[in-house]
Amino acid sequence: MTSTDIHQGSGGEGKKLSLTAKIMIGMIAGVILGVILNMVDNAFINTHIIGGLFAMIGKMFVNALKMLVVPLVFFSLLTGVTGIGDIRLLGRVGGKSFGLYLMTTALAIGIAIILALIIGPGNGFDMTGVDTGGIAGREAPTVWDVFAAIVPTNPVAAFANGEMLQIIFYTIILGVAVLMLGHRSKGFVEGCEYMNEVMMKVVTIVMSFAPIGVFVLIAKTFTEQGIELFIPVLAYVLTLTGALFLHLFITLMIMLKLFTGMSPFTFMAKIRPAQLFAFSTASSNATIPVTLRSVTERMGVDNSVASFCVPFGATINMDGTAIMQGVATVFLANVYGIDLGVMGYLTVIAMAVLASIGTAGVPGVGLVMLTMVLGQVGLPIEGIALILGVDRLMDMIRTAVNITGDAVVTTIVAKGEGKVDMSVFNDPNAGQIAEEDMHIDESVEAELAEAAHKH
Ligand code: ASP
Repeated sequence: MTSTDIHQGSGGEGKKLSLTAKIMIGMIAGVILGVILNMVDNAFINTHIIGGLFAMIGKMFVNALKMLVVPLVFFSLLTGVTGIGDIRLLGRVGGKSFGLYLMTTALAIGIAIILALIIGPGNGFDMTGVDTGGIAGREAPTVWDVFAAIVPTNPVAAFANGEMLQIIFYTIILGVAVLMLGHRSKGFVEGCEYMNEVMMKVVTIVMSFAPIGVFVLIAKTFTEQGIELFIPVLAYVLTLTGALFLHLFITLMIMLKLFTGMSPFTFMAKIRPAQLFAFSTASSNATIPVTLRSVTERMGVDNSVASFCVPFGATINMDGTAIMQGVATVFLANVYGIDLGVMGYLTVIAMAVLASIGTAGVPGVGLVMLTMVLGQVGLPIEGIALILGVDRLMDMIRTAVNITGDAVVTTIVAKGEGKVDMSVFNDPNAGQIAEEDMHIDESVEAELAEAAHKH
């Protein structure tokens, strides 16, 4: 046994810590350090350590994740389409996942609004001293624009800009064309399968740095986010967090059990790394490689379904974001003393579902969509200033909920098509990143060494 010690656990008696456990430790250590540094509030540390070194490492880590997304989605989807071999199945998977994504989002926001109406955050809120100026809402695209833009004019630009819906569209067309060429495509298909495996290895490499990446990202966030920001809007934060957890642990898990009969506990254990990545990066998009890896290698969902459903969900399905919009709307309606009425809330549900289709899973986009929802029901957009301060932490939690929704729908669709390998799902160790995964193939190693020797 040689090479990397990345996965060499430090637990006693020869017990190795799993990568997930290490990421958890990184996260908790990050919270503790962040809270301490926030209290210390030292200018040097804030500028050079947190704003400098930590910001740099955190950015490198998130960049590395984003770097994987486009090539991984391309090769896995191409492999998926050619692997399905049946275009009707592809249509079914597309239709079912789209329907389920809309359903979970509508359900999420409905529950959020009901919960918020019961709790009533924002009633009796004192607006004095709140600076409500300066929030010019960026425009969220209309749903028609979104549909029109699914077809790229230039695929190279789509790939360069990471336009996920366009990439999915183009790759599917390409995959179908490959299928149409029949046996002549054999070499190309094998090449894509190989590239898909290569990309999965790159995911493994990047993921092995996650404990450090997560540690710095969390430490930075908690250093910069003071507790004082939370106090005035505590009712909003608590209601929102409650609604998010309700959706995460109850609604989604009931759906999973009901539609598939699979164990929610096993599911939760296996999706945890992706949730931690989503929490730390606040981006469903950047988390795609980890979500994809969790559902395929850890849960046994076939790549033919996952390679489509996961990136599609990361782009159009945002349950957590919809929940935030529901709670925020009720909160702001209470603050401003405006009664939206049943029609108002139904509009909010419809708008939030449509808005979630059009906006990519990147940090903070939920707030942009909120401006659109508020505008539609006549609430002052400046109200967003009230919740801006706490939005980063809320974004982290809702992104974890967003990707869990993606994984649940992916699993439901795959199970319906008989595309889940239950022996993988039930094996607690399946797909765990192990030490062996980080080894270089010895024969290649020897060849490379020989080649270097010759020079
Ligand atoms: N950050 C979220 C995501 O990437 C979107 C949002 O709610 O802002 O899923």
